[in-house]
Amino acid sequence: MTDFHTHSLFSGDADDTLENMVRAAIRAGCRYLCPTEHCNLDFARNRIDIEPSDLDGYAAEFARLRTKYAGQIRLTYGIELGYDMHCKSDYADIVKKYRFEYVINSTHLIDGEDCYHGYFDRYDVKTAFTNYLKAVRDSLDAPYRFDTVGHFGYVARNCPYENVDMYTAAPDLADDILKTMISRGVCLEANSSVRRAPQPCLPAANVLKRYRELGGESIVFGSDAHRTGDLFRSRSAVIEHLRNVGFKYHTVWDEGKKIQLKIEN
Ligand SMILES: [Zn+2]
Ligand SMILES: [Zn+2]
Repeated sequence: MTDFHTHSLFSGDADDTLENMVRAAIRAGCRYLCPTEHCNLDFARNRIDIEPSDLDGYAAEFARLRTKYAGQIRLTYGIELGYDMHCKSDYADIVKKYRFEYVINSTHLIDGEDCYHGYFDRYDVKTAFTNYLKAVRDSLDAPYRFDTVGHFGYVARNCPYENVDMYTAAPDLADDILKTMISRGVCLEANSSVRRAPQPCLPAANVLKRYRELGGESIVFGSDAHRTGDLFRSRSAVIEHLRNVGFKYHTVWDEGKKIQLKIEN
């Protein structure tokens, strides 16, 4: 069992304490876990209401839990940054200050506009996906170290239409993103919080296949759990799906050290 995208009360929008998340993971037989609390300077800058994350509290509690549960689970110190071009240098300072071992760079806003609630009411499908892809492409040039692009295809999580496809909306742009990630060693996340997006994970199967075709091999499973009950959400279905797409390994961090785990047959 592995999970590299989870939130606790330190994130401001989750339900359980970090210790309860860790204990639930141990009970489930998890070997590698990475809490990735939110850091949302993007929301704060654009006055979108979310309780701010407590990064100092998180740092202290993470250190305490790593010691307390040593021998039972391997914990990696992670963060999920909400990319915003106007917050780039502040994020660079935060990444330097806290020395996170695993950094997810996620796009939740497009030019300061929330792309989760009502985005497809304001833009047609092609424009919505193209705007999202442009924002993700911009996020790749962030001036700080990050390991993974979070939930690629996020804009589709709350899309009201069926059978819509991000890749075909702007294939050249999507390819540029995937090729840039591969050339820079940035991992792709298989995020199992899908809601209305294609199953069983984000990004959709055609994007995962294209990433493989282009030579991409670094894929990281994350449930995006905001409560203990969502840890490892759909994990076996996602791993099976990744195997069918052609992945032979998935990537985890062992207390901050990147390793590849074989996907068993
Ligand atoms: Zn996110
Ligand atoms: Zn998240």
